[in-house]
Amino acid sequence: MPEGIIVKALSGYYYVQDFDGGAPVQCRGRGIFKKRGESPLVGDRVVYSCTENGEGAVEEILPRSSELIRPPIANAGLAVLVFSVVRPELNIALLDKFLVHIEHAGLDVIIVLTKLDRIPEGEEGEGIRSAVKEANELYSSIGYRVLLTSAHKGEGLEELRASLAGHINVLAGQSGVGKSSLVNALVPGLKLETNEISTKLGRGKHTTRHVELVSVPGGGYMADTPGFSQLDFAELGIDEIGSCFREFAEWSSSCKFRGCTHTHEPQCAVLKAKEQGLIAQSRYDNYVGFMAEWKEIKRRY
Ligand code: GDP
Ligand code: ZN
Repeated sequence: MPEGIIVKALSGYYYVQDFDGGAPVQCRGRGIFKKRGESPLVGDRVVYSCTENGEGAVEEILPRSSELIRPPIANAGLAVLVFSVVRPELNIALLDKFLVHIEHAGLDVIIVLTKLDRIPEGEEGEGIRSAVKEANELYSSIGYRVLLTSAHKGEGLEELRASLAGHINVLAGQSGVGKSSLVNALVPGLKLETNEISTKLGRGKHTTRHVELVSVPGGGYMADTPGFSQLDFAELGIDEIGSCFREFAEWSSSCKFRGCTHTHEPQCAVLKAKEQGLIAQSRYDNYVGFMAEWKEIKRRY
């Protein structure tokens, strides 16, 4: 039986694109999934059968490598975390927060800094340029891939396209940072609504009810609905926050106490690394801030 990937789910139908390509086949799900408490998701790799009338049926869901809730997608591999360098300006605390959620979801991530063409020339743009350089160096040193781009000038798009190949990709980032513009420039036919258009039509951007995967030329799929929009820590355990700061791992196993929170404990290797400048102050401060935020959320509920 043929195998493919569910690229769209709508009104009880699953649209399965064969691994060999071609137009998606409209498939029904099998009742058996319901019995087992399973539900096929966009992104699922499935075995399907074809019936006479050109329709098909999903027969089996192949094992998933990941499962996201918002948007509901199986097998997402790479989060494309987009931040603009101006309008809105780069917000490192928010970037770290997105990274915690992405690490927790078990996805790879690429950090895309965009709207580089908007940095004012000369002295006026000096501060922004050095902030971008600093962020690029910091996150690269931690092991994240950082791309500098401009959707309007087409800068960095080929590198971005190459990074998307072979994965199911999900966008992440605040509204207005330029996610749609980037992806529209990369994926013909996707046409995510950009901010201008949604204002013109007088409706919000988040009206999409279903998520759909669109093929990226060069390989891979992009989800047409950005994920990770609600960033609170309620679904994380407090001890999980530290493990989402990937550079802490190198030191945390040397902390004297098991379950060390890296805040006040004696002989904490993370604190020591921070004091020696081996862990960035900004990363450490955001870690402490997120722990406090977590406690505040738990106190309220
Ligand atoms: P989204 O909400 O993250 O999808 O952001 P949009 O793609 O809708 O972009 C928000 C605004 O930023 C729009 O007015 C875009 O035209 C503008 N924008 C996006 N990318 C760039 C860029 O690379 N350069 C410049 N100058 N403006 C951009
Ligand atoms: Zn510690």
